[in-house]
Amino acid sequence: MSGTDVTVREDAPEGTGVIQSYHAHVYFETPDERARALRVRDWIAEHFLVQLGRVHDKPVGPHGVPMYQVAFGPDVFHQFTPWLMLNRLGLSVLIHPNTGRARDDHLIHALWLGTPLPLLADTLPNSLATGGGVSAVEVNTSPSRTSQ
Ligand code: ZN
Repeated sequence: MSGTDVTVREDAPEGTGVIQSYHAHVYFETPDERARALRVRDWIAEHFLVQLGRVHDKPVGPHGVPMYQVAFGPDVFHQFTPWLMLNRLGLSVLIHPNTGRARDDHLIHALWLGTPLPLLADTLPNSLATGGGVSAVEVNTSPSRTSQ
């Protein structure tokens, strides 16, 4: 992981209004971890209005091991994040904001639940001009229960 060309602002704090959405990436390697990851995925679908990505059984993008992505809006963060703290079933989870600067968002703005895993930093652009890969959250779950 290279930390040499990330943007660290020290002159003034940055407002959170730049955060358009968040991703949670739930990682699994062994068959047992995969089974737990799918259980968590079902629970998420039952409890939260989020965009569940498909299950990637091979590494994709900056992610060095299999995972699936959960995209969610800033309005969901305060309920979903503590819920994941309690219900990740021992799996590693990366939660990062989407500001349009993918490299910063994954490497310096992110938080990890559980054991941090290596990311392939070279795959991450850091330019607002390219959009940084940010796309709108398209909710595709229909929660039948509440998280509280
Ligand atoms: Zn992501």
